[in-house]
Amino acid sequence: MARTSILCLGEPLFELNQAADGSFRPGFGGDVSNVAVAIARQGGKVGLISQVGDDRFGDALRRMWADEGIDTTHVNVLEGGDTGIYFVTHDEDGHHFTYRRKGSAASQLGAGAISAQTIASARILYTSGISLGVSETLRAATTAAVNLARSAGLPVAFDPNLRTRLWPLETARKVSHDLMRNCDIALPGLDDARQLTGLSDPQAIVAFYHDLGARIVALTLGAKGVLVSDSRQSAHIPPFRVNAVDATGAGDCFNGIFLTHLLRTDDPFVAARIANTGAALSTTGYGAVAPIPTYSEVMNVKET
Ligand code: ADP
Repeated sequence: MARTSILCLGEPLFELNQAADGSFRPGFGGDVSNVAVAIARQGGKVGLISQVGDDRFGDALRRMWADEGIDTTHVNVLEGGDTGIYFVTHDEDGHHFTYRRKGSAASQLGAGAISAQTIASARILYTSGISLGVSETLRAATTAAVNLARSAGLPVAFDPNLRTRLWPLETARKVSHDLMRNCDIALPGLDDARQLTGLSDPQAIVAFYHDLGARIVALTLGAKGVLVSDSRQSAHIPPFRVNAVDATGAGDCFNGIFLTHLLRTDDPFVAARIANTGAALSTTGYGAVAPIPTYSEVMNVKET
């Protein structure tokens, strides 16, 4: 395995998604795992820092990561632990309901598991608001990893994604903003960012994240594209036109492709254009992982 460039820290999930006939289809989720797959499919060198249980769900995740070429050197298998699981059910009106198992092996990954050497071996550390909200233990590990990255001069990319069912909004705001002060690259989605910042104007949200210390901000706007800024200039990249059927995981796909091409080009505007196209393509299929496009699929695509 070649040297890992981007390390993704958080909770991977085995997903069970209910089909129309009531049966549950297996799939994969967990935002940082989705991001790692997006990086790997662009040809980026990526590794995960996490923990799974020694159960069939953890085995399935580890097989998937191996197939994708994701480095799992820093994924610990916890004896007797439970891998994170996520259920999605749908009602007749198209609403969906989710349930996430508490107390997963990943939620028990503590700060002691994060080594300075591991963090310093990468070129970017990626983590998210979900990693902060899953448990206090994983939050401590995430904060430790970010501080180690800071000391090593490694850029930290952070998606302040919000799950209000994980914790109260006020707590999420405080913890998310505190961590963001130590991050270089902010990758918020508009809905989450509006709740976390209390602002509605996209330009004001970008300015807010720059004020917290981000050098680069890419604010994803769903079907309206993305707003990207390096504090000297900003650009709105219009959506890449596709027949979207399911935007689950589109933000994760954007983040992975963006970081891969940011490392390659050192140009957030070029990286955001490629990621905008790739994330649009990921909405043309169902689920968070299966429709994540490869490098050649992104480069060879034509707008509909
Ligand atoms: P999140 O999953 O974080 O809410 P978004 O919904 O903002 O993320 O989507 C992330 C990116 O995916 C967008 O910035 C855009 O590039 C792309 N995208 C999402 N929905 C569409 C769509 N309907 N058409 C084209 N591109 C889309």
